Amino acid sequence: MALYDIRDARFARLILPNERLDLLWTGGRWCEGPAYFPAGRYLVWSDIPNDRVMRWDETDGSTSVFLQPCLNHNGHTTDARGRLVSCEHRGRAVSRVEHDGSRRVLADRFDGKRFNSPNDVVVKSDGTVWFSDPTYGIDSDYEGDAAPSELGANCVYRIAADGTLSRVVDDLVQPNGLAFSPDERLLYVADTGRTHVPDCTPKIRAYPVGADGASLGPGRDFAICDSGLFDGFRVDTAGNVWSSAGDGVHCFSPEGELLGKIFVPEVVANLCFFGPKRNRLAICATTSVYSIYVRARGC
Ligand code: MG
Repeated sequence: MALYDIRDARFARLILPNERLDLLWTGGRWCEGPAYFPAGRYLVWSDIPNDRVMRWDETDGSTSVFLQPCLNHNGHTTDARGRLVSCEHRGRAVSRVEHDGSRRVLADRFDGKRFNSPNDVVVKSDGTVWFSDPTYGIDSDYEGDAAPSELGANCVYRIAADGTLSRVVDDLVQPNGLAFSPDERLLYVADTGRTHVPDCTPKIRAYPVGADGASLGPGRDFAICDSGLFDGFRVDTAGNVWSSAGDGVHCFSPEGELLGKIFVPEVVANLCFFGPKRNRLAICATTSVYSIYVRARGC
């Protein structure tokens, strides 16, 4: 099977023709939420049904259990101070690991009602934390604890520096992965609502960030998925969007054109750039984590 599907000449300049897909680790049930720690040269990711966070050491290629149990973490990111920010299905919260190793809950309810199951998270350069809250972690006991939704809505939220919460996206069926454009003038959000509503188009929407840096304008469709669903994704320094999909990684121009694909042998849920140059993709794909070098650098 070919490794690449080059749809546009621009994609040929974003990949390395001699590269291969490396298998970093296998043995999970549903790998998600990769995040890279440049100071320690390691990756972490979630193995959600097994209720653990894994850690891959870049210095020797070894993998170990970083945290178990972990309240069924899903998405992860790192903030500007190098702290791990986590979405907890079972905790129904967004939390942060402090420098002393303690867990601090950043948000666990809105209007007095518990979140559904925070799924993915991004930290803006101003330190605010933005996260999605679909229902996957309360739909069954497989990836969390089955429970009814208290909020009755699946939205994206923003945590201000002082902890104040605001609801910023409410027009998606199941908001999922999210990331900012390099200039932070756009917030991209994936909708995986097809898991619950058969005619829901799998897509990434783009929302303009207001001049206040906090509010969002009306969204527009940015890209439609032609294989499975877009779940988590990342943006490179040129503004290209590298997304998970059913058949691998799809790369879109800043205008939303499909430039090409990297085929992966398992369904991809999420990815992140890593390595000292941030020019390598860590790809969480069902039971495994793969990697590949690209000619792009992550934001
Ligand atoms: Mg997700």
